[in-house]
Amino acid sequence: MKNHLSDELHQLLNESLIYTADGKVADYIPGLAQADPHHLSIAVSYPDGTCHTAGEVEDKKLTLQSISKVLTLALVLMDRGEGFVFQRVGKEPTGDPFNSIIKLETISPSKPLNPMINAGALAVTHMLVGANVEERIEKLLEFLRLITGNPELTYNEEIAQSEMETADLNRSLAYYLKEHDVINEDVEDLMDLYTKQCSIEVTVPELAKIGLVFALNGQDPDSGRQVIPKRVASICKTFMVTCGMYNASGEFAICVGVPAKSGVSGGIMAAVPGKCGIGVFGPALDDKGNSVAGWKLLEKLSSKYDLSMFSKV
Ligand code: GLN
Repeated sequence: MKNHLSDELHQLLNESLIYTADGKVADYIPGLAQADPHHLSIAVSYPDGTCHTAGEVEDKKLTLQSISKVLTLALVLMDRGEGFVFQRVGKEPTGDPFNSIIKLETISPSKPLNPMINAGALAVTHMLVGANVEERIEKLLEFLRLITGNPELTYNEEIAQSEMETADLNRSLAYYLKEHDVINEDVEDLMDLYTKQCSIEVTVPELAKIGLVFALNGQDPDSGRQVIPKRVASICKTFMVTCGMYNASGEFAICVGVPAKSGVSGGIMAAVPGKCGIGVFGPALDDKGNSVAGWKLLEKLSSKYDLSMFSKV
């Protein structure tokens, strides 16, 4: 896949650009509504340290949004252990939209079905260790600085603020979780932490690097360090396959066939096992909250280079 990639990546990106017209930028968070709906970019990061890109990736940062859910999950699994985490959040896909409350009400005892939907992600964020919001977000930021190799990585205050002002649905989920003893902290503190987590800013090559670390079972090829234990990386990748693209995860598994996680900023982080990490950014979303053109681009890439893990013998 690697040798001719630069040219071919540009070609696939150009072919995918038309699909940006089929989606809409997320506007329920005003800070995200200003994104350029026609933008599309991609980066592919390899174990030898090379990174191929197409589209404008310099100076174009995106917020992680739901992609952050995989990273908080990895961190709490490392800090708290599997038993503790999965006592409070389940392992099954829901088939519902990412911000739905319905299964919280219909399943007993009330426990969010998985860590990739908002209810489950709030339960996971609640488990971040630290004395206060500042310490807990700093711990997550440090973890991400380690993975991306960017010591300056931080969250976008404006987007965090904008999310905080419009997070009433997430607030409702959090209050519901509190009522059912899944969480036991102040809801506004949890919202503060969660919105900061979602507003962490990365470049597209950094997104690809995160994907690469998962693709290599938690090893950072730049430092040779195991930054995420193998078992934790494997759990995260499994959730990416079963729940990473919200209620379109089954379709994505058929069309693309690689572990991936999307966010409403239009980012998708993908991990091609053993091979490479991919970051794409296309803010125009489909009705389930996935980047329309980003999906198409990954689909083309997967088909051209036979990346699907389900097509292997
Ligand atoms: N911050 C967003 C929210 O909670 C993240 C959701 C997403 O990316 N799907 O609504």
